[in-house]
Amino acid sequence: MSSPAARRRRLYAWERHLAQPIFGEAGWLGKVWVYEGYHFSNWVDDIGRWLRHSQPRAPHQHNAMALGNRCFFPIHLPVHLLPPTHPLVYQHAWLIHELVHCWQYQWMGWRYLGAAVRAQFREGSAVYQYGGAEILLQNRQMGGTLFDFHVEKQATILQHFCARQLAGYDTTAWEPYVQDACQKFASHLPPHSQS
Ligand SMILES: [Zn+2]
Repeated sequence: MSSPAARRRRLYAWERHLAQPIFGEAGWLGKVWVYEGYHFSNWVDDIGRWLRHSQPRAPHQHNAMALGNRCFFPIHLPVHLLPPTHPLVYQHAWLIHELVHCWQYQWMGWRYLGAAVRAQFREGSAVYQYGGAEILLQNRQMGGTLFDFHVEKQATILQHFCARQLAGYDTTAWEPYVQDACQKFASHLPPHSQS
């Protein structure tokens, strides 16, 4: 069976409903383009791994990336919201990870991309490891916020919140960090509002 053709689309309404509670008002979600079936994000990952001398990507493992308001996926994402037990349900949270980078772009501009690349070169595969619920709770008790974590960890924290929520798991440790994301634009307008 041949793979579906590459295409560009806006977010589905149900994807926006999934994302909006994480990002608050999030009018910028209307500017996001989702590119599906574009393999260049895998190639970027291959080159990055080669430059970092790290392990090659496992077969069937894919790499997505966000450039400004554009999210690139080598595969096609689900067309409908999947039930919690579906094997591809993790792809909903994967989209949220990339949307966190779009959200970072709204308030950091292109600096988010340099910060992500630097973190990946510095930490390799550990770049997504923020310490789980225990560290989130500890950090919060000491007055910490989502913004104590670098851009890749921010994306992974919110990705895990979405995955756990969809699976019906406890999200207590993640919720204050979702509040941080929600409140980011509450007091001021984003500096980078161009598409
Ligand atoms: Zn990322």
